[in-house]
Amino acid sequence: MNIDFNKNNDGLVPAIIQDATTKNVLMLGYMNEEAFKKTQDTKLVTFFSRTKKRLWTKGEESGNVLNLVDIKLDCDSDTLLVTVNPNGPTCHTGSDTCWNEDNTESYGFLTQLENTIQSRVEAGNTEKSYVASLFAKGINKVAQKVGEEAVEVVIEAKDNNDDLFLNESSDLLFHYLMLLQAKGFKLDDVVKVLKEREK
Ligand code: AMP
Ligand code: ZN
Ligand code: ZN
Ligand code: ZN
Repeated sequence: MNIDFNKNNDGLVPAIIQDATTKNVLMLGYMNEEAFKKTQDTKLVTFFSRTKKRLWTKGEESGNVLNLVDIKLDCDSDTLLVTVNPNGPTCHTGSDTCWNEDNTESYGFLTQLENTIQSRVEAGNTEKSYVASLFAKGINKVAQKVGEEAVEVVIEAKDNNDDLFLNESSDLLFHYLMLLQAKGFKLDDVVKVLKEREK
């Protein structure tokens, strides 16, 4: 790897630290050539700390190390993208990331929808929100709705109407997300179980 350590005339390159699984950015640090080599040798992410003015293996005191997965060099060889498996929270504040975020996996639009459902439930406007009103009827009603939509999917699967099949599938997925919310779970909890089964 031909890294351009001298663009800033300080022998350092920024290293963006990304979780290999969730793809979240955990922190940013700087590496000199020695830190880079140590990272590769020990498989533990090691920076050159500009404050401590020495090599700094992330987690050396806290135990919250960053286990190296892969290092990529950017288009003009002056920035590293380091993928890791973190051992515990990455920020010294105790937060998962240095931007005070939870390091949970995101499923794009489905996660957005999950968050919308949660905020509708929390707002509890049963007059205006279908989600809030169904929730107000209790968890058994939500579960029953999932059952009904599942039956509708089965019925449409036998027909040759793709439109209806996709619509009932959407109803099922939407109500299933509501049931997860009602049970206090996230889509990610189910994905974790599925991943565990793959092992
Ligand atoms: P650690 O490397 O986790 O043992 O932490 C040792 C020290 O490094 C902490 O007390 C902080 O001063 C600093 N530190 C730890 N994590 C971070 C971070 N993500 N960003 C900046 N400084 C950090
Ligand atoms: Zn660059
Ligand atoms: Zn931090
Ligand atoms: Zn339906």
